[in-house]
Amino acid sequence: MSIKVYNTLDRKKEEFIPRDPGKVGMYVCGPTVYNYIHVGNARTYLSFDIIYRYLKYRGYDVTYVRNLTDIDDKIIIKAKEERTSPEEIAERYTREFWEDAKNMGLAEPTIQPKATNHIKEMIEIIEALIEKGLAYIVDGDVYFEVTKFAGYGKLAHRTLDEMRAGERVEIDPRKHHPMDFALWKSAKPGEPAWDSPWGKGRPGWHIECTAMSLRYLGIDFDIHGGGRDLLFPHHENEIAQTEGYTSKRFAKYWLHGGLVNIGGEKMAKSLGNIILVRDLLKEHNANVLRLLALGTHYRSPIDFSQEKLKEAEAAYERLLNVRRRIEHVLESPTVTRWPEKVEEMNRLKRVIEETKEKFIESMDDDFNSAAGLANLFELVKEINTFIEVYGEQVTMHAKDLLEEADGVLLELSGAVGLNLTLPKAEDVAKKLPEDIYQLASEVLGIAIDGKRKDQLLDDILERRNRARKEKDWGMADRIRDRLSAMGIEIEDTPLGSRWKLKI
Ligand SMILES: [Zn+2]
Repeated sequence: MSIKVYNTLDRKKEEFIPRDPGKVGMYVCGPTVYNYIHVGNARTYLSFDIIYRYLKYRGYDVTYVRNLTDIDDKIIIKAKEERTSPEEIAERYTREFWEDAKNMGLAEPTIQPKATNHIKEMIEIIEALIEKGLAYIVDGDVYFEVTKFAGYGKLAHRTLDEMRAGERVEIDPRKHHPMDFALWKSAKPGEPAWDSPWGKGRPGWHIECTAMSLRYLGIDFDIHGGGRDLLFPHHENEIAQTEGYTSKRFAKYWLHGGLVNIGGEKMAKSLGNIILVRDLLKEHNANVLRLLALGTHYRSPIDFSQEKLKEAEAAYERLLNVRRRIEHVLESPTVTRWPEKVEEMNRLKRVIEETKEKFIESMDDDFNSAAGLANLFELVKEINTFIEVYGEQVTMHAKDLLEEADGVLLELSGAVGLNLTLPKAEDVAKKLPEDIYQLASEVLGIAIDGKRKDQLLDDILERRNRARKEKDWGMADRIRDRLSAMGIEIEDTPLGSRWKLKI
């Protein structure tokens, strides 16, 4: 079985055959560093993070390049607004982007080049384009002449006339065609500028990606990705200038991520409905955000809502719960049982194997993570059923099987970057509310004796169990309610009571 990807260039799913066997070169357009990233941006980076991780899981040696656009009109405008230099703005928001990327659990790309470190290469490419008659100079600006490149429009699947009608481009008399785009912009006073054969100036946005992708991945690399909003004109222009320059194919597979809408509208600064990643991460675990992304195919739009977040949160909780449950069973005493519950064990064993196969099949099919996630939850359901039917007192064989199920759960979720590590007792203790002390000592008269909060919580649960045994239901309920008010849930199982923090 091989991986299939939907190629925007051909508008169909194609078998994924990389240029160099076993290796993948992937370029994803990174942020223009002038602001904090929002949920829409985050989704694109998450989608390609999932693709990157999955390709590695499938054994490919992936070189993942995600650039930083650190010179652009938006950066210059922001610098003017804040009365600081564009360099300062770019540096600040690069740091902030890295911070958000880390907190989102994004794997670090192999290379994160900055546009301003590659001006020399950009100038070389522009010079060659002028020489080939594909670009022209007007007053220190250089434009790419779209009518000179036969394939212009092949990514967007539109002719030049259709683009003109659709884009409402401003008529600039200096340009030969309204769709001609800037490769180089002459310097305006006070703006960052570099020397070039056409005078001082700075590169246009599109040429940055051409220079950086060619530099690190070479000609005809495998995957070029980005959000759907970059398809036109950014990616179309990248293709025109790169293929014009090299006379060869730029990249083989073009992958575009779906956008994020809010209430049916695009998330945009002008609409005032922007949600910043860092604000969302204050209230939600990064895995919840990733589950939200995984739950929809990367090419489809997501209509972002509180309900969607809640669903993702519940999904995350279900995954952690099953792991807690397995852990609990594994820690409980091993029993000998005769006869062994062979039928239940065979069934779980079969589902473990099938889950792995199905998950890979789903993800191989154009990274269909929504289907992959559904496969994962089939396993979760089976594990829960197994524990319920089998009972929590299990044999060595059953323990081995549960350990295997847990391993597959971790392996497959890890393949798409989900982290299902259960927090350590000490770390959980830190998150427990201070009210535990008061409940333990003042209400229940339990000695604190320098105990950690989670240890006191175990004492409290024991007190509640005693009350239950003595049929003091009032006391048992009061303890449960007090804990619930603190965000702590109690689960009563045949092997005793357990607690967990609501996320
Ligand atoms: Zn780009």
